[in-house]
Amino acid sequence: MASARPSTLGELRAAVDGGRVKRRPVRDEVRENLVTRLRAGQALFPGIIGYDDTVVPQIVNAILSRHNFILLGLRGQAKSRILRALTGLLDDEIAVVPGCEIHDDPQAPLCAGCRARVKAEGDALPIRWLSRDERYVEKLATPDVTIADMIGDVDPIRAARSGLDLADELTMHYGLVPRANRGIFAINELPDLAGKIQVGLFNILQEGDVQIKGYPIRLPLDVLMVFSANPEDYTARGKIITPLKDRIGSEIRTHYPATRSAAMAITAQEAWLQRGDVVIPEFVREAIEEVAFQARADQKIDKRSGVSQRLPISLIENVLSNAERRALLAGETTVVPRITDIYAALPAITGKFELEYEGELRGADNVARDIIRGAVGNVFTGYYANADLRQVTEWFDLGGNLQIDDTLSADELMTRARDVQGLRELAFESGIDRKAPPPLVASAIDFVLEGLYAQKKNSRSDEFQYQSAEPPRRPSPRGVQTEPTFEREMPNVGGKKKYYN
Ligand SMILES: [Zn+2]
Repeated sequence: MASARPSTLGELRAAVDGGRVKRRPVRDEVRENLVTRLRAGQALFPGIIGYDDTVVPQIVNAILSRHNFILLGLRGQAKSRILRALTGLLDDEIAVVPGCEIHDDPQAPLCAGCRARVKAEGDALPIRWLSRDERYVEKLATPDVTIADMIGDVDPIRAARSGLDLADELTMHYGLVPRANRGIFAINELPDLAGKIQVGLFNILQEGDVQIKGYPIRLPLDVLMVFSANPEDYTARGKIITPLKDRIGSEIRTHYPATRSAAMAITAQEAWLQRGDVVIPEFVREAIEEVAFQARADQKIDKRSGVSQRLPISLIENVLSNAERRALLAGETTVVPRITDIYAALPAITGKFELEYEGELRGADNVARDIIRGAVGNVFTGYYANADLRQVTEWFDLGGNLQIDDTLSADELMTRARDVQGLRELAFESGIDRKAPPPLVASAIDFVLEGLYAQKKNSRSDEFQYQSAEPPRRPSPRGVQTEPTFEREMPNVGGKKKYYN
């Protein structure tokens, strides 16, 4: 069959009659292909992670019901990606009349031009095969989208040239919806579409009627309509005209990844991390993901706009870049991000959320730093719940301090850390191998220091000088210098100050 693909209308008719080529409305086509996949136990939406038990079954039901449907969800919940993935349920290709803007079925053309051609050429009419990717049309709704954009317009020049009446459909210039005929039409952010355009869409869904500049044209289009919207916009009164809402068979809610591991899988799939000799420790990946989880729960961040999965994706790319920069400067070949690199990647965070009033007062950078610290603390607890941290915390409590910064080479960081008794041992409890290359060991040490800081077991300056969790002594209000409790000289690794103060 594949070898003898019909190339004329006559051959196509014979192939359809013989059951070698399927001919069916698009919603039946999608449904039948879905049924085949389900029977074969094949993956339905490759690359869509974390929705297997929630969103995917509802989409399957909507398709089995032959519904037009809408995905409701906050930004960065893979809504557009799911809609695009629907093309995978279309046939590889379908037969169309060549040159037809609305991909007419050669056996039942809608437009006057194709009808005339079929009449004139009969079974000799050539056939064009249209691929599935050409059958997906997507539009981001904005308030300035017009009827002409979506549905079409009467072309007066074409009318004048051909001597046709304006009401003749040969004078039509088709918009996006008719051009999606026999395919899938996706509208993102549906509530942003003006009311009268929603009415136009409704008429198409309901009756196959298109009204252009007062000329009624009957165009029974065959389209699977799918939409996406933010739930806040969608449920706000008056944003979607009720008859259109009524015609959308299923309303499916998307969500952010429910588990850290699902979120990490999405981030790993989407982020650009293939940059040569790169090792990203699991605890760094977890902390990055946890930043997004904490941001979504943070009172200072606007819940309605949400925190997109693009946050951890951009963040891990920037974290890796900071590590890459350090490796280049230090002449290291293996690039290993550290927890402190997350703080250097604030530019990938602060633009990804809207602040509530309280957050505005605190400032975006501070809000982001607080969130990172909370995220690191959470992940650290998971790794070190049963570890004995006292030896290291006591070293700081006895006045030790340690100066690190994000450009420090792995060897130098390990040299400085050697003076902190128990620190290196503790670092290996993160699960990294004892024979791991220095950048990985350095990253684990950094994790311990940042974990202790997140749990307030030590403190550090914004310049990454770690010291005791006790607040540094300051001159008393009366200007009397308070005596330090012990005056002994303490190790001050790589530090700028010589004495504990
Ligand atoms: Zn046509």
